[in-house]
Order: sequence, then structure tokens, then C-alpha cells
Amino acid sequence: MIVVLKPQSEQSQVENLINWLKEQNVDVHISEGHFQTVLGLIGDTAKIDDDLVASLEIVETVKRVSEPFKSANRKFHPDDSIIDISGVKIGGGNFAIIAGPCSVESEAQMIEVSTKVKAAGAKLLRGGAFKPRTSPYDFQGLKAEGIELLLEAKKVTGMPIVTEIMNANHLPLFEHVDVIQVGARNMQNFELLKELGKTNKTILLKRGLASTLKEMLMSAEYIMAGGNENVILCERGIRTYETYTRNTLDLSAVPMLRELTHLPIIVDPSHATGLSRLVKPMAMAAAACGADGLMIEVHNNPKAALCDGAQSLTPEQFADVAKRVEAIREVVKAEYDPTF
Ligand code: PEP
Ligand code: MN
Repeated sequence: MIVVLKPQSEQSQVENLINWLKEQNVDVHISEGHFQTVLGLIGDTAKIDDDLVASLEIVETVKRVSEPFKSANRKFHPDDSIIDISGVKIGGGNFAIIAGPCSVESEAQMIEVSTKVKAAGAKLLRGGAFKPRTSPYDFQGLKAEGIELLLEAKKVTGMPIVTEIMNANHLPLFEHVDVIQVGARNMQNFELLKELGKTNKTILLKRGLASTLKEMLMSAEYIMAGGNENVILCERGIRTYETYTRNTLDLSAVPMLRELTHLPIIVDPSHATGLSRLVKPMAMAAAACGADGLMIEVHNNPKAALCDGAQSLTPEQFADVAKRVEAIREVVKAEYDPTF
């Protein structure tokens, strides 16, 4: 962090600031120019509040030269992280598609969807048991029973399962869940993130509705700071002024995050667009720009879905998307697969 002081700052105030900074466990390198003094802070500056420093009377500007996220930062971990989810690898050239309904509705639905998406190439099964719905009058999910049905489907297909948690008190119910999803609405539920940091489960962290990439990385940092390094990031579209699509898919997040972090990055074109017909082009685009995987909503009968039917693919449509995505992956593999 660099702190530029105002010209002719009073010496006693400058000394007070330097002493205070040293008390924050950083070394202070002082360079005195003809007109201005510049302080270079060396060490772990993550705990220093740059806004507070910038607000001081003698301070002209403050600039961070290293990001406040350490564990997620590629600078300290140059190789891609590869996460192994019960035998399914993701990251570092390993690509995986997560598919399944928005919400778990019945055993027949889960068995049919899971066997069909597996046959089409999906590696993990998704399904919401606890649903974060905008209206309290909408279907809230089958809760514990939903997790049981996901586990039933896992027994049949062998596919690891992904499902969302909304409350840390529910953690015991997730004991056999392979990947715990933190939805967009909870990306900054810091108490939940801290609890997940104490587990050794893979966490799928979805980008908040209006969150910056830095905020998403800081949320990943909450989980990792607790000791759990198994985090997958998911771009799922952000709020903009556009209304034709449910959200605006920020695909530039993929190469940008790739620079900033070693964590695997996947894309959810279903929630990003809200329209089943847009899922295929956006899934292909996500594969083309280097995503490590996709999460796609698939329902055996989208018209009758209890949640997000408009954006859900039929298993047949999913098979077509998976095939196209595979073709795109072949073309771009040399660009993104470090082992290629
Ligand atoms: C979901 O994946 O079911 C979901 C609710 O997504 P998001 O949190 O991205 O809205
Ligand atoms: Mn959904």
C-alpha cells in the first residue's frame, strides 16, 4: 500500500501516522521528496482500512498495490487449483457440467433427470432442496426430503450432488452432500461463509446479484480463511438495466477471474438469461472463453416445473447443448488446458 502525504504536512502528525501504521504490524518505507512524502507499507496490509487512512487530514491519496484477498490470489498460488469432488475433477483443464432441476420435486423426477443428464455427459447432479424464493408464497423446496431424494439419485447414477444451503443450522443435513452451493442472495452472508470455512466440503460460490468480482473473491476468502480451500466460483449474471434477459451474463468475469485467482470458475447460463433458448449460445460462449464448467437447469417437464421452468432445458435439449459445448472445448483446449 502506498500513502502519499499532502505537501507541508506537519511533522508531528506524520510521525503519529507512521507510528500508528507500525503498530498495525507493517514496515513503513519513507521517501521524502522536495515537496511531498510518500509512505510505502510493506507486509500484510489486509487489515488496514484504506478508507480510514485516506480520510486523514495529512493524506492526499492511498493506493493498494496488492489485493486484499490472499488465499484466493493467483500471485501466491500460480497453478490452477484442481478440486476433486468424489472422483470428478474440476479446474486446471478439467471441465465438468453440473445439470439438474432448479428444485427437487419428486423421486421420479430426480431419477429420470439424473439418468438422462448423466447419459448426455453431465458429471454432477444439481437440485435445490432449500429454495431462496422472492415470494414467501412460492414453493420453498422439499428441504430435508429433497436432500434425501438427491441422495437416492446419487445411489442410482453415482453422480456427486450439488445443493444450496441457506442457513448454517442446516449443515448436519448436508453431511452426505458433495458440493454445497451458496446462492447469489447469500454471497455476502458472512456468518454462513465462516461456518462453511470450518467444513471440508467443496463450496460452489455464486456471484451476488450486484456484486463486483473483488467482492466475490473476498467472499471466497471468508471460506478459505477458515481453512477450507475447496471453493468453486460461479458467474451467474448480474443485475443491469436490461430487462429482456433475467440478468446480464458477465462473461468477461471468466478471463478476469482467471487472472486474479487460481480457483475454478464455472458459468450458469440458466439463471444468467432466464430463457431456455439462450442457454445454448451462452453455454458455448462460456466454454469458448475458458470456463472450467457449467451449471445448467434441466427438467423432465419444464412447463410443469415448480420453479424456473422458463429457463429449464428438457433432457434432450441438454444433450444437444452438452454435445456443442464438447465441440467448443475441443477447439479451445490448447488455449486453456495447461496439460495440453
Ligand atoms: C440456483 O442455482 O438454484 C439459484 C437459486 O441460483 P442463484 O443463487 O444464482 O439465483
Ligand atoms: Mn433456479
